Amino acid sequence: MNILVTGGAGYIGSHVVKILLNQGHQVVTLDNLQKGYKEAVTGGKFIEADLADQKLLNEIMQKNEIEAVIHLAADSLVGESMEKPGKYYRNNFANGINLLEAMVKNEVKNIVFSSTAAVYGEPDEIPIKENNKTEPTSTYGESKLFFEKALRRYDDVYGIKYTSLRYFNAAGADPEAKIGEAHDPETHLIPIVLQTALGIRDKIYIFGDDYSTRDGSCIRDYIHVSDLAAAHLLAVEALASGRESAVYNLGNGEGYSVKEVIKTVKEITGKDFEVEVSDRRAGDPAVLIASSEKIQKELDWQPEFPELEKIISTAWQWHKSGGFGE
Ligand code: UDP
Repeated sequence: MNILVTGGAGYIGSHVVKILLNQGHQVVTLDNLQKGYKEAVTGGKFIEADLADQKLLNEIMQKNEIEAVIHLAADSLVGESMEKPGKYYRNNFANGINLLEAMVKNEVKNIVFSSTAAVYGEPDEIPIKENNKTEPTSTYGESKLFFEKALRRYDDVYGIKYTSLRYFNAAGADPEAKIGEAHDPETHLIPIVLQTALGIRDKIYIFGDDYSTRDGSCIRDYIHVSDLAAAHLLAVEALASGRESAVYNLGNGEGYSVKEVIKTVKEITGKDFEVEVSDRRAGDPAVLIASSEKIQKELDWQPEFPELEKIISTAWQWHKSGGFGE
């Protein structure tokens, strides 16, 4: 298939591109390189462009005879989204509409969308299921939920079929490729702890240890980025073979606390470093764990690297090797 991957130079996108290429798909990666790294794109065609440019989107789809879209391009910092809501509504929602309009114009009928656990907000029950209430507590989560609603509408009106993948905490790195997680600024727990193990940071701060969890720190569901990427491949191929639109959670169904992550990093890296408990971070739910039963059942998705040790050790290999010049 000829597949357009938006945001394909980013952390998750680069792993998606790699897996699509491995399966023999023709990939066109579009990225504005604001957060992505050109060297993370391991093959196919690369176009540096922004989703704001609808005319260009039309041209790209037409020229490359695009048959499906995997849409990952987005701003994804929860904190920033509360300070600059307009940026998130514009880039994650409005520019996404440009993409859908270009799909309508070029009769591209299938899209896989990179959504997020942040659409749920504070969960009523754990593990979280796809039909649980969606009341995002951040503009980021809301911008992604708005786009999911738009997808539903474009399906009703134009018959564009979608798969929305609600990611929990993506982590780890491809065990073979020279790609991994490198955000600037970095806000995610696992890369921050690994940077601390490397001595790039003085110490790690635990954002609150007074939650009602087993050790007081927040619990999250970490999923290996290659397992996440594999789900995109299954989803796009399922749509191509006529599957209906669907929404799926993507997590391991296992939760690990911040303290457990830090302990595992210390064990794997053999490094000791200072840990300090600081204030809670605004908007952090105590526990987020996914039920991924639906995608396991319907798309036969199975995580290959569900263990925290494996997730952290693949990330460590990549960080140790220097990442993208840390
Ligand atoms: N966290 C922390 N210290 C840090 C970074 C994150 O204690 O330096 C905590 C954060 O409060 C959350 C968990 O680690 O409970 C995972 O945070 P991350 O930003 O990686 O992902 P999120 O769950 O917010 O998407």
